[in-house]
Amino acid sequence: MAGKIIDGKKHAATIRAEVKAQGKDCKLAVILVGDDPASIVYINMKKKACEEVGFDFELFKLPETAAQSEVNALIDKLNNDDKITGILVQQPFPAHLNKNEILTRLNPKKDVDCLHPYNVGLAMSGQGSLLPCTPAGCITLLKREGIEIAGKHAVVVGRSDIVGKPLALMLLAENATVTICHSRTKNLAEECLRADILVAAVGIPKLITADMVKENAVVIDVGVNRQGGKVCGDVDFVVLVKALYMTPVPGGVGPMTVATLMENCLKAKALQS
Ligand code: NAD
Repeated sequence: MAGKIIDGKKHAATIRAEVKAQGKDCKLAVILVGDDPASIVYINMKKKACEEVGFDFELFKLPETAAQSEVNALIDKLNNDDKITGILVQQPFPAHLNKNEILTRLNPKKDVDCLHPYNVGLAMSGQGSLLPCTPAGCITLLKREGIEIAGKHAVVVGRSDIVGKPLALMLLAENATVTICHSRTKNLAEECLRADILVAAVGIPKLITADMVKENAVVIDVGVNRQGGKVCGDVDFVVLVKALYMTPVPGGVGPMTVATLMENCLKAKALQS
């Protein structure tokens, strides 16, 4: 029997309604350097979510050739603007910019994607209020579906700073036993087969196939890929036949990332008051 599809859109809509119900004045500032088409799609989703929950939104665009000093000056301006609750610098940045310099320049209390090393440290030690949006969205999905994490063997495929690594630590904080796999992992299939909770955050279409998934596993697909003009995840959707629960792509983790960003704006507002 096929597993249950976790409806990320539904959960995200509930979270947005909860955020809206708080009736707080927040303003999200997004900085975009260049005009990467995928970034523009993601920014528009964030703008739409802000409109829906009643937050102000402003996009600050800089040209692809913007110097580090220009980006720094814009961050300083937004850091010092009391009307701005949250600042998000859309990644990827052009290669000539220093990512660490950008992230450490953000006011940690306005760092709504939890990328400043101070916030990363707080999150790692379990003291963070602001948590990175995509991993936090995955944990929220599991909890809102009533899926037990404690004592489960979670396997996270991918070790990026924005998804895999923080998600692995957050699963650990929820008392899962965690394995992290990456591009140099030997026998990926063997590792995945041990997972009660399997997370794919790689960026390779259909990397995870049915023979890599244990019967009745919970499968969280973070990947967003384009194949033959269609959006697909890192997990072959036929895996649903074996899974107990599975997130679809699109409509799974993606909407939760944006909803969590709205929650983080509220948390940032509280930190600043
Ligand atoms: P990344 O490129 O920074 O990291 C990819 C990770 O996959 C690396 O740690 C690498 O070691 C690992 N990897 C690469 N090849 C592998 C292989 N053959 N086997 C096992 N591991 C391998 O990517 P990212 O930023 O973490 O994003 C991962 C995916 O998640 C992408 O498709 C991205 O678009 C998507 N994403 C989705 C959301 C969302 O809200 N849904 C948010 C962020 C990222």
